[in-house]
Amino acid sequence: MAESGTGADAYRGHCRPIGERTLAFIDRVQGLRIGGAWDQQAKNGATFESIDPATGRVLGRIAAATVEDVDVAVTAAAAALESPEWRDISPARRAQYLFDLADAVDEHLETLAELESLDMGKPIVQARDDIGGVSLTFRYYGGWPTKIEGDINPVRSPFFGMTLRQPIGVCAAITPWNFPVVMAAHKIGPALAAGNTVVMKPAEISSYTTLYLADLAREVGLPDGVLNVVTGAGRVVGEALLSHELVRKVSFTGSSPVGKRILEVASPQMKKVSVELGGKTANIVFPDADLRKAAAGSADAIWENAGQVCIAPTRLFVHESIEQEMLQLLAEETAKLTLGDPLDEATTLGPLVSEKQLDTVRSYVDIAREEGGEIAVGGEAVGTEGFYMQPTIVAGVDNDMRVAREEIFGPVLSVITFRDEEEALRLANTSEYDLAAAIWTRDLSRAHRLTQRLRGGLVWVNTVGKLDPGISFGGHHLSGNSRELGRESVLEYTKSKSVLIDPS
Ligand code: NAD
Repeated sequence: MAESGTGADAYRGHCRPIGERTLAFIDRVQGLRIGGAWDQQAKNGATFESIDPATGRVLGRIAAATVEDVDVAVTAAAAALESPEWRDISPARRAQYLFDLADAVDEHLETLAELESLDMGKPIVQARDDIGGVSLTFRYYGGWPTKIEGDINPVRSPFFGMTLRQPIGVCAAITPWNFPVVMAAHKIGPALAAGNTVVMKPAEISSYTTLYLADLAREVGLPDGVLNVVTGAGRVVGEALLSHELVRKVSFTGSSPVGKRILEVASPQMKKVSVELGGKTANIVFPDADLRKAAAGSADAIWENAGQVCIAPTRLFVHESIEQEMLQLLAEETAKLTLGDPLDEATTLGPLVSEKQLDTVRSYVDIAREEGGEIAVGGEAVGTEGFYMQPTIVAGVDNDMRVAREEIFGPVLSVITFRDEEEALRLANTSEYDLAAAIWTRDLSRAHRLTQRLRGGLVWVNTVGKLDPGISFGGHHLSGNSRELGRESVLEYTKSKSVLIDPS
């Protein structure tokens, strides 16, 4: 066995039995997944720690790739692009790899869920949902290789014109820590469906499930080099990857400040760069809505993953006539949460991902108090072990306050009142972010009016926070420049080539 990561022994006596596959995984120092050289340590032998957010203790160790390792990974991906095992296979065979990967994810659901839960503190029940979504995503993309069609273009005689859709080449995929394996699937699925090869860099805080997913891809026979994973710090590994001359497309999901840096580094090289960034979702409840449903749906969406969700509905706009009723209903829904060990089946609110994140969230609660917000529920960190925070509802918020403008990325909900539809619309649309919005109403005309005028790359009506592989989403302005999921995401991983033939 390789050098020990932690001693998974610390987890063997856990009150909830943890699977042997999971324990074996955290027990090993995890290596890089590159081409045919699987599970290799970094060239200089450097590693970094994965911390268990539920305890603050070291969970395991992972290879910290060097710039040289990144070069080897990109070179392997470039070679795979030209290999007959990938370039020359039929679309149906490419589809089959994705279907097989979906099956493997289903088979390993429990291990993936346990790893995600241990690595980033996500409640196991939510982690299982995530993994279910991952196999669904791969199945969805498995439907695409056989359906990526070009066009026949009407051109003047005697010419014949057509436009082909071809793979872009080596894709660099950089993902955040909040939905590690889900984000990996959002990028690997369309990239492979369109015939590209991929080098992934997961967030250093939560790299395990992406590594495990790569192992599954290998197990189902995906050719060497088609999917590679390099782990380590964004500044070193991420930048080496996105600035590598053989990388043709960069797909980044993460914070807006880092997104700007990604564009700075990759754009001058004329790579295709897509960035999916932060958000400050507006969630508007009108008095004619089913208020119980609105409160339950909003609470589910804001407390999921302890609020560490880009599309979390962090700004709740309620009509002034229903403010007290909505606050009461939200407090009731929030009281149903069980805060605790993420591996416990009963837990619905786990810890925040890191001490740094907990400090950030606490500082925003202080800011909310200083700016005149009223802490209606929660407001405090919990316990001395791990990074737990109470679900926090701030009432009496003004849309100009920092808690309403800045992305907090934790379990903090700001409640803001409005007087009429125009004011709700104006307030909701006043944000630097432009990712998503939701409306709760039984008035069909109002729903149609507002879906047209609300900003955001995704608008929900009488639901919030839900995604489906069949419909694309993505941000504008500070929230990004691209689409994930749906047909649009597949097209983002292709390039057009027009062909003009003179058949005379
Ligand atoms: P982050 O921006 O700190 O890091 C994201 C990834 O970028 C990580 O893998 C990190 O290592 C890497 N990175 C950091 N600096 C880099 C650099 N200079 N060059 C290359 N790579 C670099 O984000 P995070 O804290 O991991 O995730 C939380 C953020 O992600 C939030 O802002 C959230 O809104 C956003 N997010 C957006 C979506 C979406 O679809 N719009 C989805 C999930 C999360």
